[in-house]
Amino acid sequence: MARERLYLFDTTLRDGAQTNGVDFTLADKLAIAGMLDELGIDYVEGGYPGANPTDTELFASDRNFDTTFTAFGMTRRPGRSASNDPGLAALLEAKADAVCFVAKAWDYHVRVALETTNEENIASIRDSVKAAKAKGKEVLLDCEHFFDGYKANPQYALSCARAAYAEGARWVVLCDTNGGTLPHEVEAIVAEVVRTIPGDHVGIHAHNDTEQAVANSFAAVRAGARQIQGTLNGLGERCGNANLVSIIPTLKLKPEYSGMFQIGVSDAQLKKLVHVSHELDERLNRSSNRNAPYVGDSAFATKAGIHASAIAKEPATYEHVAPEAVGNKRKIMVSEQAGKSNILAELERIGIKADKDDPGIARLLELVKERETIGYAYEAADASFELLARRTLGKVPNYFDVTQFDVNVEQRNNAKGERVTVTLAVVKLKVGDDNMISAAEGNGPVNALDLALRKDLGKYQKYIEGLSLVDYRVRILNGGTEAVTRVLIESEDEAGERWTTIGVSANIIDASFQALMDSIIYKLVKSGAPA
Ligand SMILES: [Zn+2]
Repeated sequence: MARERLYLFDTTLRDGAQTNGVDFTLADKLAIAGMLDELGIDYVEGGYPGANPTDTELFASDRNFDTTFTAFGMTRRPGRSASNDPGLAALLEAKADAVCFVAKAWDYHVRVALETTNEENIASIRDSVKAAKAKGKEVLLDCEHFFDGYKANPQYALSCARAAYAEGARWVVLCDTNGGTLPHEVEAIVAEVVRTIPGDHVGIHAHNDTEQAVANSFAAVRAGARQIQGTLNGLGERCGNANLVSIIPTLKLKPEYSGMFQIGVSDAQLKKLVHVSHELDERLNRSSNRNAPYVGDSAFATKAGIHASAIAKEPATYEHVAPEAVGNKRKIMVSEQAGKSNILAELERIGIKADKDDPGIARLLELVKERETIGYAYEAADASFELLARRTLGKVPNYFDVTQFDVNVEQRNNAKGERVTVTLAVVKLKVGDDNMISAAEGNGPVNALDLALRKDLGKYQKYIEGLSLVDYRVRILNGGTEAVTRVLIESEDEAGERWTTIGVSANIIDASFQALMDSIIYKLVKSGAPA
């Protein structure tokens, strides 16, 4: 049996732009749209032309996407004709393949917010759809507050949706604008809607205010809707929109959906999902959610020894899907509860060959336990674990020695008489027979130390050129009698690969230095730098 086509509509750049603290530039919008296009998303809603300079410029620019690039805006204003509404005119003039109108579908809002009559609201929907169709656009209508409206006045909510469909709108999208509708309600209401509007013209736009936006989207699909709207990483105002990054793999990998539906995302495109999700966080300068389903760092991480030994034998024993399908990795964490089986499984994953009777394994296990007692957490620092393992079992070349470092923080008045804090780090290194000395100023001690350390590694410099720090986390632990500081540093290389290293010390600079050193040495090992 042929599978039905299900369409994905992304509104990261419009609804997602409402997220607290998110402010996309034109370059951000173009880059994210390009990423969505490459992922195989059917519709990308770029924004609201005419509402702000960025969106106006976006819709004036030339783009070359396969996706249906969509402009968002209001239906004509009550009491005006479609031809005499500058807002509508700007929307229709925008360079977009499709227009998504938003209109009220709740009579209460029509009365209170729009201050017009039910009839005039429907006439506005009709006229706007007609005007956009006349311009050759594909038309969508977002029925705002559809579910609350339906509960209050089902006939009126339905007549708004039907008016758009009757005028030739390709999609009528049912929005749970306040995000409070529950899955069983969505399923029941969508089932009513598709009795009069064919399901392959009905979409769902769910918000996450009860943490069920994804569940609500699937409830709508079960009832017959064939378009899902959402955002990358669930971005969106308040609690966010339905998270496409969770929805896509479920549609692709769960037989109940993959057997029934086909989406625009291929198996190869699905493998880019982790990258897409992280890339967005990177652009927003926020650290990724480790526990995100499918794409999080911990999504396929296992801790307990008994699980780990089973996973090493047969991954399917503790995994609901294969991590590689979405571009993620299996991770067996080394922890205080670690047994030999964890260590062996983790070594195998990172490609270190080891015999289970090798005395080095027992030594490594001892070492991990010892260090975790004083505050190290290797489960969060895969690269530091790998280095520790390589050092214990085999060989990590002694690439260079830091013979001395010095960090100086000074507060003083500058030439303009302003109070400034200046940080200077000096690092003395020995690379082979060469003694080198580097100094750097930074916006803080760790930054200055990092810059000085990576400024000149002599013959190894070329291996670390693409290295950058993407995250720095500090935690004060109360271990024993004294507080110790744990520093986790996340690094990235030119290929986009990321790793985390750790340092622990009573002194924050010292802890940071350990983590910085591990990161650099990890990169040298990974790049196969010669000893
Ligand atoms: Zn919304």
